[in-house]
Amino acid sequence: MHKSAIILKKCCICCNAITDDNIIILFTGKAGDNKEICSCCMKNMDVMAESDNPEERNKAIYYFYTCSLSINDEEIASYLKEVIKSNSFDILDIEFNRVKDKPVKAICTKRILPSIPAAIVAGAIGMPLCVLGCKFIENEIRNQFVLFLWCLITFALPVLFATVDFKYFARRRRETVGMFRRFFFPFTSIEDFSQYYLTGMGRMFICFVSAVASMIILNALGIEF
Ligand SMILES: [Zn+2]
Repeated sequence: MHKSAIILKKCCICCNAITDDNIIILFTGKAGDNKEICSCCMKNMDVMAESDNPEERNKAIYYFYTCSLSINDEEIASYLKEVIKSNSFDILDIEFNRVKDKPVKAICTKRILPSIPAAIVAGAIGMPLCVLGCKFIENEIRNQFVLFLWCLITFALPVLFATVDFKYFARRRRETVGMFRRFFFPFTSIEDFSQYYLTGMGRMFICFVSAVASMIILNALGIEF
């Protein structure tokens, strides 16, 4: 008798044949082939990754390491490499290592939003544009919704993004433990005031001064508001 032509799928961890019932496709490799594992190995991987035993976690991480070398998706590959480097699956640990690796100066100079220059630009350009546009819309178009949209686009949104530190807000939210607290968290530590509220309000004040200065200068140049 001839051998049957059915190609058996093999689990790439335990090497056992897998049936269609318990197949899990992990990812697509660089050659375009699917890396498949059995549901049993998947379960073991989860247990290992969540384990308190560092040896177990290392096993899972080692497996991730071998995956990261043949993976197709760049983003997942770089995430896996960071998991290996941090020796942790905890997203906070990974993020902490990311920040730690960058020199402090690079973090400060790279930041475009929110920043003092962004606040100055938002005030100096946004405010006069907003006022001039509002006058035009009120006289010519007379549509409340257009007026609202115009204020949103030229003033509210630019000021918001130039002054409010959304990254800090998101990070503090992630740090908060518990579903309920995450949504209604107080967000009132001393660090929050110095890093978030005061710096944000400082940028808002700079934005306001910049807007007033810009409008005085434009007025002197003959533009009527
Ligand atoms: Zn398996």
